Amino acid sequence: TYVVTDNCIMCKYTDCVEVCPVDCFYEGENTLVIHPDECIDCGVCEPECPADAIRPDTEPAMETWVEFNRKYSEIW
Ligand code: SF4
Repeated sequence: TYVVTDNCIMCKYTDCVEVCPVDCFYEGENTLVIHPDECIDCGVCEPECPADAIRPDTEPAMETWVEFNRKYSEIW
């Protein structure tokens, strides 16, 4: 899955939301988030993010971000 990380804070762009084929972006408190179970890992959103905030969970130490994205995509 891909996840949104802290560079997203205060970002006003939603280019990522527009390209996602499965609409798995949700609005968190200060960031957008990606629902980790709904993301199909297509990678299309990553280069669209002007803040470089979208990362694959295969990078080191991403567990906390996966849980953050899950929490805020299921909260509303
Ligand atoms: Fe959506 Fe693809 Fe990005 Fe996952 S990787 S959030 S499916 S655009």
